Amino acid sequence: MLQVPTYKFVLGCAMDDLMQKLIDNHPAVFKGEWPRGPSWLPAGWYPLCHDLCAEIERELTMEELEHLQVTQVKEKWGSLHFYCSGPRDHDIDLVVRRAEEASESICMVCGEQGKKYTDGWHRVMCAAHERRRRDGR
Ligand SMILES: [Zn+2]
Repeated sequence: MLQVPTYKFVLGCAMDDLMQKLIDNHPAVFKGEWPRGPSWLPAGWYPLCHDLCAEIERELTMEELEHLQVTQVKEKWGSLHFYCSGPRDHDIDLVVRRAEEASESICMVCGEQGKKYTDGWHRVMCAAHERRRRDGR
């Protein structure tokens, strides 16, 4: 667990706040509730997740949205993971998968074009943030 403080330092500590913001901005998707599984959001991926939720809202009917349950949102191995269940979850599978794939080239700190680094801990960083991380700033 030694990597956690570095990680939090690099990404800033507003990750929980951003998850709350996503929940507040998409009542149809989250119903004002946190997913059951521990969830958080790197700042750079907020716009991606915002767009994903908006697309889910467009894709599903009101009734389908009622049955939709987001169970966890998190970063894992340098990718966004957005888990949900519902009667027609396969319909949004593609939309979710596209966003998860897109996250692998979006800097987790600033949202600019980035690439995946897998040495030590997995992350997606733009050149500037990766340099800053290496310099320990
Ligand atoms: Zn960056």
